[in-house]
Amino acid sequence: VPIIRTVGLTKVYGGGDAATHALRGVDAVIHRGELIAVMGPSGSGKSTFFNMIGGLDGPTGGRILIDEVDVAQLSAAELAFLRCRKIGYIFQQYNLVRYMTALENVTVPMAFAGVDPDAARGRGMALLETVGIAQRWDHRPVELSGGQQQRVAIARALANRPAILLADEPTANLDFATGQDVLDLLVRINRDAGVTVVCSTHDHRLLALCDRIMWIKDGRLDRVQEREDVRITV
Ligand code: ADP
Ligand code: ADP
Repeated sequence: VPIIRTVGLTKVYGGGDAATHALRGVDAVIHRGELIAVMGPSGSGKSTFFNMIGGLDGPTGGRILIDEVDVAQLSAAELAFLRCRKIGYIFQQYNLVRYMTALENVTVPMAFAGVDPDAARGRGMALLETVGIAQRWDHRPVELSGGQQQRVAIARALANRPAILLADEPTANLDFATGQDVLDLLVRINRDAGVTVVCSTHDHRLLALCDRIMWIKDGRLDRVQEREDVRITV
């Protein structure tokens, strides 16, 4: 059973002569436990695809099914549950809260989910350990490097044990070595915790690590490459 499925997913921004057709009918299938790379040129619709699946913005056509349930059929409470508990999201720009420490940033989603504050701090520290930044738990984002901030953002995304981790260009603003560390971390989260990871990237190092690659071109799913093919072409 696919964990994520889109059927004719369509997104048009604006209207009339100014309309931008960002997604033009994407039929995608992602299975539980997969590590998927989403690749394609800038402006091809990758961020839009992530924003639709993550529920940050609504499609103009087509359907999104999570665990075969159409998200359009969900109540507001069920949608909130999906966004808060089932899907973790990491962004190119980290999007940490500036005035909060690393640990506070990680505990925010747990507070939303009603987790007891002591338990949230305990789990928050454990997550910061997992991503290798526990010693900086009381640092604010401005006191952390880009790679360290991205680690905090990954810990935050995992706070409520999501089944799905969406990562939109997670290494775009990182140097080569730090980017490798973040990719290794995503692979470890996928393999060890069984989290389904969907990662958009221009980073070709991910091609050898992922299960499949979805190539997006001009708002369409151009082709899907299996890992066997990946090994031959890379
Ligand atoms: P990618 O992530 O592959 O770079 P995007 O999904 O960001 O692609 O963008 C796809 C197309 O949609 C681009 O032409 C972009 O300019 C346009 N677009 C994205 N977001 C918006 C928006 N909020 N309003 C208008 N156009 C947008
Ligand atoms: P990337 O190409 O790395 O995915 P973009 O620079 O295309 O990032 O987009 C960054 C953000 O700006 C996204 O949230 C996207 O939806 C928004 N965006 C992109 N293009 C436009 C646009 N033409 N008008 C308004 N918002 C846009």
